[in-house]
Amino acid sequence: MEDLENSEKLVIIGSGPAGLTAAIYAARGNLSPLVIAGRAAGGQLMLTTDVDDFPGFNEGIQGPQLMMQMRSQAEKFKTRFINEDVLGVDFSTKPFVIQTETRKVCAQAVIVATGASVMWLGIPSEEKFVGHGVSACAVCDGLFFQGKEVVVVGGGDTAMREAQHLAKICSKVYIVHRRSEFRAQQTLLELVKSKPNIEFIFDSVVAEFLGDNVLTAIRLKNNKSDKTTTLKVSGAFIAIGHKPNTEFLKSQLELDDRGYIKVFDETKTSVSGIFWAGDVADRVYKQAITAASAGCKAALDVEEYLEKLKFKS
Ligand code: NAP
Repeated sequence: MEDLENSEKLVIIGSGPAGLTAAIYAARGNLSPLVIAGRAAGGQLMLTTDVDDFPGFNEGIQGPQLMMQMRSQAEKFKTRFINEDVLGVDFSTKPFVIQTETRKVCAQAVIVATGASVMWLGIPSEEKFVGHGVSACAVCDGLFFQGKEVVVVGGGDTAMREAQHLAKICSKVYIVHRRSEFRAQQTLLELVKSKPNIEFIFDSVVAEFLGDNVLTAIRLKNNKSDKTTTLKVSGAFIAIGHKPNTEFLKSQLELDDRGYIKVFDETKTSVSGIFWAGDVADRVYKQAITAASAGCKAALDVEEYLEKLKFKS
């Protein structure tokens, strides 16, 4: 027998632009959503500086500021928050069960909006230097390298943003990219190319991080010639993309070969009543605005789903 009365109508897991937009729409739709925000609430935008492409902010806005505003908008409409991580879920029963660090929450519907996390190179010497010269967040760690020479690895928008930020702090920023064409958007590339203290190193990968206790250099390998060279740097910022945060969903929802939630009919997942929003299922766009859009759609679809559920019971 389904204990729908004693369960939340809607639990949203995640508090980036997808989760918070879902919360705003669901709260205004009278679903009284509960957001399990995670310890690192706010998602990837918390680690970003200038956001210049979110509509409505023609002067740009800082990532954390944008997230604070979204959260207070959700709170204004009486969204409740738990600032804990989800440890596990059971989507095989109804109501669904979500286990956080301190409590078990039951829900009639769930929106999974857990986003994605940074990827590391995965070479043996990398782990040794994380926190000792190797980082994946220029906003968080850039100041440790004030006036020093650093490297950014990657050729996408994140790498360009990291380099742009670091160029204001560091004496020199090298961007190491494994190809000679970038996937970063043209405007960002132009901005980065205009900085006199940024230099590109093409067709190259990091073969090894070097140093005793702290990073002092990297060994680079040219992909075309196979030649290796050593580059002296105090810091290395890895910006090679993201992987979806779906580890806790493995036996619960269908995932694709890269771990993204498999999408069924717009916002639905393989389990009826569980919806997705944002980068957790988005292999292509991964923008704050597309995450927000997915959050809105998921909330509207949950509303319809719960209406039908009420009618059935
Ligand atoms: P991305 O677009 O997937 O780019 C990852 C980059 O890292 C690519 O250039 C890739 O090389 C390289 N790479 C991947 N694995 C590597 C490896 N093992 N070794 C060396 N290089 C490797 O990821 P992203 O830059 O994090 O961006 C993710 C999404 O967020 C994108 O949709 C982007 O538009 C968005 N974003 C937007 C902004 C903005 O300001 N609008 C800012 C940040 C991110 P290849 O090119 O050879 O594959």
